[in-house]
Amino acid sequence: LVRLRARLSRSQNALGKGLLNLLSREHLDEDTWEEIEDTLLTADVGVQPTQELVGRLRERVKVLGTRTPEELRGLLREELLQLVGPDMDRTVRTEPEAGKPGIVMVVGVNGTGKTTTTGKLARVLVADGRSVVLGAADTFRAAAADQLQTWGERVGAHTVRGPEGGDPASVAFDAVKEGKEMGADVVLIDTAGRLHTKTGLMDELGKVKRVVEKHAPLDEVLLVLDATTGQNGLIQARVFAEVVDVTGIVLTKLDGTAKGGIVVAVQRELGVPVKLVGLGEGPDDLAPFEPEAFVDALIG
Ligand code: GDP
Repeated sequence: LVRLRARLSRSQNALGKGLLNLLSREHLDEDTWEEIEDTLLTADVGVQPTQELVGRLRERVKVLGTRTPEELRGLLREELLQLVGPDMDRTVRTEPEAGKPGIVMVVGVNGTGKTTTTGKLARVLVADGRSVVLGAADTFRAAAADQLQTWGERVGAHTVRGPEGGDPASVAFDAVKEGKEMGADVVLIDTAGRLHTKTGLMDELGKVKRVVEKHAPLDEVLLVLDATTGQNGLIQARVFAEVVDVTGIVLTKLDGTAKGGIVVAVQRELGVPVKLVGLGEGPDDLAPFEPEAFVDALIG
């Protein structure tokens, strides 16, 4: 965890440090507030949250009168934390009920890190003593199923896959069925994400969801988003949210960007919490999203 926090802070630090520097200026004139807004917008916080934050900061700085660096830091920390949503429920629901495994569907555009995230999540669960079945419902790319199976072998999870080009929903169905038969604790279903055929994707994901729900209710639908894609990522998020009821967001590649503000923007957009973050390509580089640790990493 310490290592993850260090990695987060390396890439995110720029945002908080920049804000703190600006706030520490002797004269906070209009230009400075504009620079503060620009800093937040550049970090993908989004227009509305930026205006809200700056509005509140202006008020509070005015009330403060003289400002010590500690006071400014504390104030910025509080306001950023408020923006990130300290009270959202970020539990990934994977608890099995009597006779039924917890079922998690992982969705997102190709390349965002969906399969990697599914593998990492399996690893976390297995390390926690849970038995996991992986469903390779991205049947359009044989490589995707191979990749998931490799993760399965690496972490000790059984992988269910179908013929290349086969019906994704039937793979999902089989995975849940095998999960039940094996008495597995959790079934993780990796899905396809070809966004260029929006209607096709909608039909397909909707069908996978319906078929899985014939067995048992879905516990989680995790949407994987690449933090480096900014506004594009938000547009994708909207499309997926139209098709399936997303219950949590996984923000990947936070290690490679200073644009951590996307956490705020995407939560606003979907009204759904960021539950996990990807901080690298390795098997241990998935962490629960902790607002306090995140904000601390921002302001260094
Ligand atoms: P999918 O097409 O959505 O299933 O994407 P993949 O799981 O194949 O991942 C695409 C690429 O992103 C791979 O090279 C992964 O190693 C990489 N990747 C995934 N998650 C992260 C992350 O959190 N950080 C970094 N730096 N790379 C990641």
